[in-house]
Amino acid sequence: MTPRTIYADNNATTAVAPEVVEAMLPFFKGEYFNPSSMYERARVTHDALEGARQSVAKSIGVADATQILFTGCATESNNTAILGAIRANPGRRHIITSAVEHPSVLEIGKDLERQGFEITYCPVDNNGRIDVRSFIRALRPDTLMVSIMHANNETGVIFPIQQLARLTKETDPSILFHTDATQSMGKLDINLDGRFKDVDLLSFSGHKVHAPKGVGALYIRKGAPVRTFMLGGHQESGRRGGTENVPYIVGLAKACQVAVDNQEEEVTTVQKLRDRLEKELQERIPHVQVNGQGAARLPNTLNISIHYIEGEGMLYQLDAHGICASSGSACTSGSLEPSHVLRAMKVPFTAVHGSIRFSFSRYNTDADVDFILEVFPGIVESLRRLSPYWDTSTNAPRPDAPTD
Ligand code: PMP
Repeated sequence: MTPRTIYADNNATTAVAPEVVEAMLPFFKGEYFNPSSMYERARVTHDALEGARQSVAKSIGVADATQILFTGCATESNNTAILGAIRANPGRRHIITSAVEHPSVLEIGKDLERQGFEITYCPVDNNGRIDVRSFIRALRPDTLMVSIMHANNETGVIFPIQQLARLTKETDPSILFHTDATQSMGKLDINLDGRFKDVDLLSFSGHKVHAPKGVGALYIRKGAPVRTFMLGGHQESGRRGGTENVPYIVGLAKACQVAVDNQEEEVTTVQKLRDRLEKELQERIPHVQVNGQGAARLPNTLNISIHYIEGEGMLYQLDAHGICASSGSACTSGSLEPSHVLRAMKVPFTAVHGSIRFSFSRYNTDADVDFILEVFPGIVESLRRLSPYWDTSTNAPRPDAPTD
């Protein structure tokens, strides 16, 4: 018998949807031609590529599809947005971002600092919300661009992109506004010709929306000064050399279309699962905190800290039961570094190490939540029995346990 798998790590990656596989298959089989080739047989491949561009554009409220650039992943989209903006605007050397971005933005920031750029990392409050006043104060005459994510991958906290982009343009219309929408794509309404009209650049990735890994996109508003850097052939209107990955691009388009067409229904279902898990875990386990609970959050994400135990211990034991989740720590260079996101939110020491993220998709069911609820409280209890800070006889922290 195949062991049971409960996949609750959809912010890490998603299962490829069967309808996405179906849409891709012809382009692995008969329609393998190079979309740039001139002969008639390549026309189907070329039309599929351009049809996918139209479809992706439509899913983010964009009428003119030439503004969509296909990339290999969201990391590439983020690099292209930021480094491409720098190449086109060599005079300005200040960039604003947030303290809780994905490494594909933060690592660029660190590298740029080494090259003499100034980066402002906007802080967040205890709920992971951006401090809008400090954002406004950060805007300067030499600011080149803003890069702030739409929703956080660890906590699901949503940033007010519409407001931040508007404030940016009111201050100086020449400052470029980029947002990393990798986690919000398909879950939140993104309308670049409407509500998001002040956003110049927007990144996302296929594998978070039930398309395969290895395909992404970057929206570049027409006229935005961005000099991309992948030099080569004339593909993607000369913005990214390299033959387009037609099957994956077709898959991305199909996945975006399905996500947007079913968004309302899907989000409601997924949110019900998340909310039930959140509520019942808080009822069944003492001393827990939901990270970002006071903020607007993605409907599928639950980041919960179980005080006085380690996230890794929980993950291993969940894994033994076939439950796939994520912890808030990343094992970097052999040392267990607590999450930069939770640290920025000033989550107490006793909670930051015990954080765990469950993230759902349309493929999760009530039975998945039932199973997590069946095993997780017992896992916590067994780990707390080993914790030097926990008193099992009172089922409470020891009087000398640290509080922050
Ligand atoms: N940004 C965010 C917010 C993400 O969650 C991720 C993936 N975890 C990325 C960027 C990078 O995506 P990709 O794996 O497609 O490069």
